[in-house]
Amino acid sequence: MTDFTITEDFPKNEIEFDARFLDPTNCYDYLFKQKWPNGFICKKCGHSKCWVSSRNLYICTQCEHNHSLTAGTIMDSSKKPITYWFKAMWWFTTRKSGVNAVPVHTQCLTEYPATCFRTQ
Ligand SMILES: [Zn+2]
Repeated sequence: MTDFTITEDFPKNEIEFDARFLDPTNCYDYLFKQKWPNGFICKKCGHSKCWVSSRNLYICTQCEHNHSLTAGTIMDSSKKPITYWFKAMWWFTTRKSGVNAVPVHTQCLTEYPATCFRTQ
């Protein structure tokens, strides 16, 4: 059996979660640190400098390759704000009894815009 230690400062409760992740910038910062814990590295050329587009794409200043923080995740190509996805993931990962789509959808209708988790 492999032992592991949680080394990040993940929120311990929903109040801490909301204080940190209701701001989309903090969500993207979190994903950035998960993807590049030692700073940006272009996967195409290895360059370490980038600029960030208005669509939160990290663009290598040397080869101009676009890097998305959400590529390959459930959030990829979603029109929903990243804060909605973070909140849904919080609900799904912290409820001991699990969460099904109806309560999540209901929660979205009361606390968030009606289009929260509707697909198409
Ligand atoms: Zn590059």
